[in-house]
Amino acid sequence: MRYTEQDISTIQKAETFNDLPNGISDIEGLEILDKQPIPDHLKDSVSSGDLTHRLFESESFWEKIPAFKGVSEEEFLSIKFQNKNTVRKLEKLEQFIKDLVDDNFLDQVKEGMRRSPMNLSISPYILSLIDWDNPWTDPLRIQFIPVNSGFEPDHPKLALDSLGEQGDSPVDGLVHRYFDKVLFLPLDVCPVYCRFCTRSYAVGGNTDSVDKKRFKNAPEKWKEAFTYIASRPEIEDVVISGGDAYMLAPDRLRLIGETLLEIPHVRRMRFATKGPAVAPMKILSDEAWTQALVEVVKLGREKGKEVVLHTHFNSANEITDITRRAMLKLFQNGVTVRNQSVLIKGVNDTVDTMVELIRKLSYMNVQPYYVYQHDMVTGTEDMRTSVKHTVELEKAVRGITAGFNTPLFVTDAPGGGGKRDVHSYDYYDETTGISVYRSPSVDESKLYLYFDPIETLPVEGRKLWEDESLHEKLIEVAIEKSGYSNLEPVIG
Ligand SMILES: *Cc1c(COP(=O)(O)O)cnc(C)c1O
Ligand code: SF4
Repeated sequence: MRYTEQDISTIQKAETFNDLPNGISDIEGLEILDKQPIPDHLKDSVSSGDLTHRLFESESFWEKIPAFKGVSEEEFLSIKFQNKNTVRKLEKLEQFIKDLVDDNFLDQVKEGMRRSPMNLSISPYILSLIDWDNPWTDPLRIQFIPVNSGFEPDHPKLALDSLGEQGDSPVDGLVHRYFDKVLFLPLDVCPVYCRFCTRSYAVGGNTDSVDKKRFKNAPEKWKEAFTYIASRPEIEDVVISGGDAYMLAPDRLRLIGETLLEIPHVRRMRFATKGPAVAPMKILSDEAWTQALVEVVKLGREKGKEVVLHTHFNSANEITDITRRAMLKLFQNGVTVRNQSVLIKGVNDTVDTMVELIRKLSYMNVQPYYVYQHDMVTGTEDMRTSVKHTVELEKAVRGITAGFNTPLFVTDAPGGGGKRDVHSYDYYDETTGISVYRSPSVDESKLYLYFDPIETLPVEGRKLWEDESLHEKLIEVAIEKSGYSNLEPVIG
């Protein structure tokens, strides 16, 4: 429902139901309400500025990119157009935006690409939504396009595979960390590449700075994973991630879905994809893919099993009327969609940006499930926030809307500790930025540590980290203060 300031004012001034611009009194049998006086309001008046999450960009926003001028909505919505115009090379990016930005920006991107652990891949949808008048601070630019001047030196404790997934992997492309759930990585490609990807050790092609360990998008490779899952009766839950399920051909998506649903002990499945955030039109125009998903969900339901879609919106700026229509289509076809965001500085780290995102997702029936404390991945120091900041944000967000649409703020504990509520640390030192977590469900003999970005620490803290000979001592002190020096610390 899109209210103008005028509508809102009419509603707020209404004295009886009859005065409302559109209302329940139109419903047969409810005429008795017409003269019913409207009760006094307890709450302050709202204005349309409080309801911006209900506005969905529906103009042809892509025409801001000179090369997309005159492109019709039908064409822009086609997968062919999206694929053909996906930016994978610097030269192509340059060609699309050279009239919109200055040379300094392009030079900075060129330099930035050299340092980034991820390759470039940007959908025309995202490219068109970046505010090219303010590219330095734009939340979508920050996520997908590195600029050299933005980088901060890596924290001394950063690692490439910070979650230690390779250590919990019984067969290629499968991570079994928790008792009853596994992470299946059937492919290593995505519709876009995010600068902050936690799986940059594997996802996307090699870059100047990283030689990747490959998973293959090939059914022969998946057999081992299927066999492992079938051989472990405790596994009830399979997360199909990657890479990205958007890149699975419809018959492969169906094959994975049907095979896993056949395994009696598998009760829950989630297909994980960034797709709806970066190319929502696929759900509207790639009928074969969407049907494959809908059918697997339906097959699951027939078998009494849950199959859902987990997606990854980070900013309300990623959401347009195309997104709204795509999410509506999934909802009307019985597909539950949940969202996992990564908390990123400059993207969603203020109360306003986070609340807007949560409200907008909720409005489309997409459930905000998790907000992740940014993983300690190399080359992303400028995107992380401190634990203190995240806990404040969590406090501000709790209560703004339905509890079931309120995300949990979690840290995926570096070194393989799994997800922990950010505020559940056993010890946290705001000065050194060290937080200490236990994770009894994963390994009760270990202690896990997270390190705030040094740039966010108070001066005293930054000074301490400057002296390399103190690092071990800082960690020792934090462990001792946690009261768990009997446990084995895992670092990075
Ligand atoms: C996140 C994750 C899961 C799923 O965890 P939930 O908390 O149920 O969403 C499973 N396996 C691994 C390795 C994970 O990182
Ligand atoms: S879509 Fe997900 S897996 Fe792919 S690059 Fe982005 S964060 Fe990584």
